[in-house]
Amino acid sequence: MKFATKAIHAGQEADPTTGAVMTPIYQTSTYQQASPGEHKGYEYSRGTNPTRKALEDCLAALENGRFGLAFASGMAATDTVLRLLSPGDEVITGDDLYGGSYRIFTKVYAQYGIKFVFVNTSDPKEVEKAVTKQTKLIWVETPTNPTLKLADITAIGNIAKAHAILYVVDNTFASPYLQNPLDLGADIVMHSATKYLNGHSDVVMGALVLNDESLYKKLWFYYNAVGGTPGPQDAFLALRGLKTLHVRMKAHCENARLIAAFLKDHPKVETIYWPGFSDHPGHELAKKQMRDFGGMISIVLKDADLQETFRIASGFKVFTLAESLGGVESLINHPASMTHGSIPKETREKVGVVDNLLRLSVGIEDVEDLIDDLKAALA
Ligand SMILES: *Cc1c(COP(=O)(O)O)cnc(C)c1O
Repeated sequence: MKFATKAIHAGQEADPTTGAVMTPIYQTSTYQQASPGEHKGYEYSRGTNPTRKALEDCLAALENGRFGLAFASGMAATDTVLRLLSPGDEVITGDDLYGGSYRIFTKVYAQYGIKFVFVNTSDPKEVEKAVTKQTKLIWVETPTNPTLKLADITAIGNIAKAHAILYVVDNTFASPYLQNPLDLGADIVMHSATKYLNGHSDVVMGALVLNDESLYKKLWFYYNAVGGTPGPQDAFLALRGLKTLHVRMKAHCENARLIAAFLKDHPKVETIYWPGFSDHPGHELAKKQMRDFGGMISIVLKDADLQETFRIASGFKVFTLAESLGGVESLINHPASMTHGSIPKETREKVGVVDNLLRLSVGIEDVEDLIDDLKAALA
């Protein structure tokens, strides 16, 4: 089946007891057993729930994977992968990461004796150079947040394979509509389903998708043993969100294309990051491994100090100043103080997260209204 058909149908059948076309919200913590251990595949909802199962199967189908796991947040999904590691292990990851990933690496897992090595993942040679005998995991985000750098998923996958290192790609920014890392050599795809997958800014959720059954069993063990799993209401909402992922992504990409063109020559814009421009360093790679360029754009404001940047960021009427991304509504974010506030100033500035950087999550409103809003706020 193709993408849109899977988005609407995968993992979902009419409910066997009533014929309900939409997967019911199985609001139950436990399930009747006929005799001890004799049940219908569901025992206790921390581990298994039918609404969540439908979502997980749909997610797996969209990422061309065999197994899906849904979590109470993207960070819970990340945490579950990191539990596969032991003290002394090393992780190679990007120097331009989502702030929360940086925080869990450096503030949570580093204290358990796991070493994190941050490199420029746009250059596979940098990844290769960092490999040691202790390297157990490569964690890549592409496009990166917020400066939209590209990493070559296949090239890094070849390095991981050659050294038998587990390879995870955070696919939050692209969504499975634009990019399928498992097809390009990743072992696990990670998502903050809070963003494009759910798409309506009303759920916090995470996901992992993978093909290897023994790895799935290991991850399922931590998923159930630690318990960072989502409730059925949220699973239902995310499942509903997925049904329009393809329609939303097309609209996000189209609006972003027009907004990027508008901002490119704007006198108030010093630098613009959007992989659709032919002079973006990741442009050719984006054309190769993605189906379109996505709905995220970052800009550095010309001659703007922190105060001026805050003034501009607060002056929008259609864009909402808020953290997060990937919803139907347009958001504007100031990474240095908001999403990336947990990264030290020196570290973030090295990778371009300067005080006058703003990140746009372009929504699917009428693009003329979005451009008018940008015009007024930048004036
Ligand atoms: C938001 C985000 C996360 C974390 O996900 P939560 O759902 O907020 O826990 C991880 N990676 C990226 C790229 C994100 O944007």
